[in-house]
Amino acid sequence: MSNLSEKPCIICVAITGSLPTKANNPAVPISVNEQIESTQEAFEAGATICHAHVRNDDQTPSSDPEKFARLKEGLLKHCPGMIIQFSTGGRSGAGQTRGGMLPLSPDMASLSVGSNNFPTRVYENPPDLVDWLASEMRTYNVKPEVEAFDLSHIHQAAAMNRDGRIPGKLYVQFVMGVKNAMPVDRDVFDYYIKTVERLVPDAQWCAAGIGRDQITLNEWAVSSGGHARTGLEDNVRIDKDTLAPSNAALVKRVTELCDKYERPVATWQQARALLELKQPS
Ligand SMILES: [Zn+2]
Repeated sequence: MSNLSEKPCIICVAITGSLPTKANNPAVPISVNEQIESTQEAFEAGATICHAHVRNDDQTPSSDPEKFARLKEGLLKHCPGMIIQFSTGGRSGAGQTRGGMLPLSPDMASLSVGSNNFPTRVYENPPDLVDWLASEMRTYNVKPEVEAFDLSHIHQAAAMNRDGRIPGKLYVQFVMGVKNAMPVDRDVFDYYIKTVERLVPDAQWCAAGIGRDQITLNEWAVSSGGHARTGLEDNVRIDKDTLAPSNAALVKRVTELCDKYERPVATWQQARALLELKQPS
C-alpha cells in the first residue's frame, strides 16, 4: 500500500450495539447519558465516527426516534465535529421502523444492502426495504455506510452507487467474523479491497471484526490503508481474559496500530472531508 503516512485513518467507535449487556461488560453504555459520556471519552481518544444503536431501560434494543434525538443532541454538544452515524440494522426493529430515526438527519446511517445468515437467524434485507432505506437517506441527506457481510453486498453497493440510489462517494464496511456469515479470512479481505478498488475507484472502505477478531481486522485495515471500526458493540474484551474498561480503551488500541504503521489518526475535519460530509456550522 502506497505511503500510509499520507492516509489518515478514520476510527469508528460502535459504542453499544443491540446485543451486549451490562452482564457481558458493565462498561457497555445503555442509557443515553451513558452513551454520551462513553462517546466523549472515545472521541477524545481519537474516534471520529460514533456508530450508535439505542436501548430500552431494560437493555433490550430499541428503535425509538426520541432516544436517537436525545443522543444526537448530547453528541452535538459534547463531541462537536464528531460524525454521528445511526444504525438501521435489523436487530433493533423490523421493516420500516429500522429507518424511523432518519428524519433526524444524522450525518450517516448504516445500510445493509443484502441478506445473509446471523448466529441464530436470517438477517433479512429484502430489495424493497433496502431501496426504501436508501431513499430515506437521500431525502434527509444522510450518508450511508454500506455494511458488507458478503462479496455480493459490495457488488450491490457499487450498482446502487452507479445508478444514483447511493449518491456521492461510496463508503463500504467489510464485516468479518459474524457466526454463520463471512469468517475472518485474509484472502477474502484482500479480494474485498481489490473489488472495491476495481468497481468504485474513489470509494473509501472500513473494516470491522467481531469478538477476538476485532483487533485482527483493525490491524489488517490500518496496514492496508483502510479505516477501522472498534467498540463494545463488536467486542467486549481487551484480551482473552480481560474485559475492556471502556470504548475509549478499544479506540486506543487502534491509535496504537496507527502509530505502528505510521498512519495519522484522522481528525474529524479530515474524516468529514474524506467522506464528503458537511463541516458543521
Ligand atoms: Zn451496529
